[in-house]
Amino acid sequence: MKDYKIETKCVQGGYTPGNGEPRQIPIVQSTTFKYATSEDMGKLFDLEASGYFYTRLQNPTNDYVAAKIAEMEGGTAAMLTSSGQAANFYAIFNIANCGDHVVSCSTIYGGTYNLFAVTMKKMGIDFTFVAPDCTDEELEAAFRPNTKAVFGETIANPALTVLDIERFAKAAHAHNVPLIIDNTFATPVGCRPFEWGADIVTHSTTKYMDGHGAAVGGCIVDSGKFDWMANAEKFPGLCTPDDSYHGITYAEKFGKEGAFITKCTAQLMRDFGSIQSPQNAFYLNLGLESLHVRMARHCENGLAVAKFLQESDKIEWVTYADLPGDKYHDLAKKYCPNGTCGVVSFGVKGGRKAAEEFMKKLRLIAIETHVADARSCCLHPASATHRQMNDDELIACGITNNLVRLSCGLENAADLIADLEQALN
Ligand SMILES: *Cc1c(COP(=O)(O)O)cnc(C)c1O
Repeated sequence: MKDYKIETKCVQGGYTPGNGEPRQIPIVQSTTFKYATSEDMGKLFDLEASGYFYTRLQNPTNDYVAAKIAEMEGGTAAMLTSSGQAANFYAIFNIANCGDHVVSCSTIYGGTYNLFAVTMKKMGIDFTFVAPDCTDEELEAAFRPNTKAVFGETIANPALTVLDIERFAKAAHAHNVPLIIDNTFATPVGCRPFEWGADIVTHSTTKYMDGHGAAVGGCIVDSGKFDWMANAEKFPGLCTPDDSYHGITYAEKFGKEGAFITKCTAQLMRDFGSIQSPQNAFYLNLGLESLHVRMARHCENGLAVAKFLQESDKIEWVTYADLPGDKYHDLAKKYCPNGTCGVVSFGVKGGRKAAEEFMKKLRLIAIETHVADARSCCLHPASATHRQMNDDELIACGITNNLVRLSCGLENAADLIADLEQALN
């Protein structure tokens, strides 16, 4: 599959049936797997042979779908997780432990911010947050001797900032640590962060990859490029023997291409068990088969709606990186030349009350805590996800009281614009 274009990988990657085998990925709805001898099974437990023994760690359906996403991103190995939250937690915790530190972009998904700043902080991992458009000096100053990774989102949810992946990769590599990119909003159809120097990619597959609002899920992909052994003192978990696996040293036994995902599966999935169900992996694969067709339409609708809003005298401001004049337009052109995503945010003139009234009047576009599926939806953070905050606190996290986040689905753009227009009127 390596030499095929992204569209072909979306449809046929990850699974090649043999003679007489199912054309569609089979759902292996089984917790466990049968072996003839204890020796056979022992080899699996020692990571001496590859195979399946228990679905808390691995399942063939998941592995077909993970292999497809690895091919789409241009990586060497991947694993599915039960959610995007689990993917980001595992990706960091696989290399950062109590006493370590991570540099993260400040414009990231709220759930990820809580995970880092509150929950992982309680586990003894410290985070320093830097703005996506910080100066090189500010970025440099964020590193410490115990820094183990740099993290950011290609297109941030919901801030819609575009990360200069190349610049952040350079800074990470100058400090001998990997760059982890959450590529949820761009998807590998829009941007492949490994081509710009990122080392690990994560996804909330719940969003565009599934694309139908059917299944929560996540994914971690390894580029296979980061040399753990060359920085062995920083990454003892990968570069020294694992007592819980009979003294295996992951980076030695599985090399740059396989160490990260093997350790993440063998240790973290074994111990935390946030596996995606094979049934959900099957739904995810159905979404992936049409991802390249859908993303083009999401972007087309996003741009049409953003242009309409920009022209409207009832709208104060519009943020959408594909709009000429947007602060992140040049970065969007560089990293997502075919369009960023279908999510647009804007401010309704008249403040909090006007935004609430406007949303009540929408007929086609539903109010939901979701983005990135086939049906258009919108959210007013000031009265939903951020309702405990007053106006000053909202501004501190980059949200105005009139901000509406709109996720453009796959409907006809003229119908979406007509719905917005009648509600604004
Ligand atoms: C939704 C989202 C997550 C969390 O994913 P879940 O599947 O909801 O756990 C992480 N990162 C980004 C960018 C997201 O949009």
